[in-house]
Order: sequence, then C-alpha cells, then structure tokens
Amino acid sequence: MTTKLGSRKPALTEYRRKRNFKITAEPSGAGRVAKRVELEFVIQKHAASQLHFDLRLELDGVMKSWAVPKGPSLDPAVKRLAMEVEDHPIEYNKFEGTIPAGEYGGGTVMLWDRGSYGYWRADPDPEERLREGYARGDLKFALKGRRLKGTWVLVRLRRGESTKPPWLLIKHQDAAARPGSDVVAEYQTSVASRRTMAGIAKAADGKRTKPKEARVSRKTK
Ligand code: MN
Repeated sequence: MTTKLGSRKPALTEYRRKRNFKITAEPSGAGRVAKRVELEFVIQKHAASQLHFDLRLELDGVMKSWAVPKGPSLDPAVKRLAMEVEDHPIEYNKFEGTIPAGEYGGGTVMLWDRGSYGYWRADPDPEERLREGYARGDLKFALKGRRLKGTWVLVRLRRGESTKPPWLLIKHQDAAARPGSDVVAEYQTSVASRRTMAGIAKAADGKRTKPKEARVSRKTK
C-alpha cells in the first residue's frame, strides 16, 4: 500500500456530504485502518427505497462501490447491472444495521458476504493492475469470500458519459461458476451475524444508538 492517510480525505468527500454522522451509525471514515496484507471486499444487502446489493472493492485506501440491483450471479451467462456510487470508507466493511428513515440510504444493511480479493491472476504488481482495470473500465478480479469465489469482471458501459456510469458485473467461467444457480436467493442471512434482514431491522428498533435530539431532518436528494 502506497496510500497516505491524508489522501483518503478528498476521496470520501461525497460520502460524507450525503450523511449526518450524528444521526446515522454508519462510519465517518475518520479513523485509522490497521495495515493489512490483503485487499478486502464486502457485499452488503441493502433494503433502501429499492432493495439492492452493494459490492465494495478496496483500492487505494477506500472501498470502490457499486449498487447491484439484482445482486451477483454465479452464472457466467448472467450480466448484472452495477451502478457505480461514491467511494466508502474501509470501516464500512463492518457495518451492519439500520440507517434511519429519511437519511441517505435509509433502510436495513446486512453483511451478505466478505473476504479478500485481488487481481485475477498472478502479477508482480496486482494493485497496479486493479488500478488500471478500474481506470479502463475493464476490471478483472478474484474473490475469496464465504459465498462468492473465483474470477469476475466489471465492465463499464458508455465510457466518459457520466462520472457515475453503469457497469456490468459478470462471473467468469471457472471452478466457482454455477450455471443456473441463484446465489442471492440461496443465502438469506448475514455472513457476520447469521441474522435475516427482519432480524437486523428488529434489533435496530430496540436500540437507538443516536440521541433523539440529534434527529433533525436532513434531506438528501
Ligand atoms: Mn446501498
């Protein structure tokens, strides 16, 4: 990792602008993250206004993030739309809970899968290959999660048209591919707590971690 701590701040500007950390329990990304050898990935199931799965891949000190409406598929014939969203802090990889209604992304968040990830094949500088792939809009990577494994590709559509363009998430043909399967339907519980979405939401109802006085309305688009 060549990333300096200071370089994380401008990268998370959009993430912070959209959230009031006095109200949501999501991390602000201000804390230090311990040095790790492997890059992390996480997939969060998120019951916002529209249910979706957030795929996050660590790169240069932040989590590059895509909202995947239908979630990942282990079937190489299936291409899943993945909308790129703002970079998230690495601490977000531990977040499971409920974002208060009315806040940005309000709704329940489940840790659906997590683990390490890397470039899809052996390379002397795998992070540079990932960086290039992301910049090129043709990002090949391999996941070592509990539920998702093997090689994948994110392909950017309509290059240069928008700062947050759509991508496609596709499973490569390999030993981890499972044609005809529906991995999203198969696993309905948290990989961290084994709770269901309803269980996570119920737990959040019981405890308000943020003081009530702080619940001022703060509309974000
Ligand atoms: Mn989301």
